[in-house]
Amino acid sequence: MSLSACGSDSDSGDGGSGDSGSDAKAGKIGVILPDTESSVRWESADRPALEAAFKEAGVDYEIQNAEGDAEKMTTIADSMIGDGVTVLAIVNLDSESGAAIEEKAKAQGVATIDYDRLTLGGSAEYYVSFDNTKVGELQGQGLADCLGDKDANIVYLNGSPTDNNATLFAEGAHSVLDEMSNYKVVGEQAVPDWDNEQAATIFQQLYTAADGKVDGVLAANDGLGGAAISILEGAGQAGKVPVTGQDATVEGLQNVLAGTQCMTVYKSATQEAAALAKVAIALANGDEAETTGTTVDSSDNSEVPSILLDPQSITKDNVGDVIDDGGQKAEDVCTGK
Ligand code: BGC
Repeated sequence: MSLSACGSDSDSGDGGSGDSGSDAKAGKIGVILPDTESSVRWESADRPALEAAFKEAGVDYEIQNAEGDAEKMTTIADSMIGDGVTVLAIVNLDSESGAAIEEKAKAQGVATIDYDRLTLGGSAEYYVSFDNTKVGELQGQGLADCLGDKDANIVYLNGSPTDNNATLFAEGAHSVLDEMSNYKVVGEQAVPDWDNEQAATIFQQLYTAADGKVDGVLAANDGLGGAAISILEGAGQAGKVPVTGQDATVEGLQNVLAGTQCMTVYKSATQEAAALAKVAIALANGDEAETTGTTVDSSDNSEVPSILLDPQSITKDNVGDVIDDGGQKAEDVCTGK
């Protein structure tokens, strides 16, 4: 692996700086992350980026992780509200439990924000995320670019059915790939909770059902992509069958460089965290936040004021962009595998 991404000596920049100013003129901000298993991003990218953003803004904050347990998320939310947070941001584990948390918060005068995942039927004041339909489009386009004009059988490994983003990713990918008459969907399944182990089992089943005649895999994130690659490896097909991903994780980028993964999608945690901090501080001060538009909640057609950021497609050719942006460290990605 002697690519420019691994030849440069870029460094990933900060890991948070300064004191946590706790004069807290903006009140206290609570953030609840969803889990540690569906993607490494929540603890490895979002938490440090959020800490840095809140420190830089000089606000008091608390960040916890619900570890995949919706009841735990509810308990954490209760205790944060008890602790006096004035703004609560959640990455819901499912819309129902998320909406209940938001309703309870609202009843106690605590404003809520949907971070990354929209809570369908929720009452969040704002939604901060990336353009998730575009993420899916980039995945679809990336897979098409890797497959080219040939006839190809495609398997979809979608994200969790309880995650609204997963619906948007799949819609975005289909909107691109369904246009190509030379591609055929030979299997498609959602992976509960984005669980990587289940993803491997599901992919194995879809692969076997298709008699191994699979030419491309639309995997919704790097973890699911890695699961598909492990099965393809067993079948001697890794590197021959392009697989997509998302999150520009260390593993995903290494797979992209090794040629077993066709692309990933980079969504800067620094940008997303900074956007959240800005909105949270505006809310805590009783101000309105600047938005990029609104998102329609498909459950009731309500419109949620939103800040949607721009995702970036990453292939072998521009892995260095992630490193230059501080999204990963060169020394983590370039382990000489
Ligand atoms: C996020 C992805 C992440 C997935 C699993 C989605 O809601 O947008 O970045 O890979 O959840 O955690």
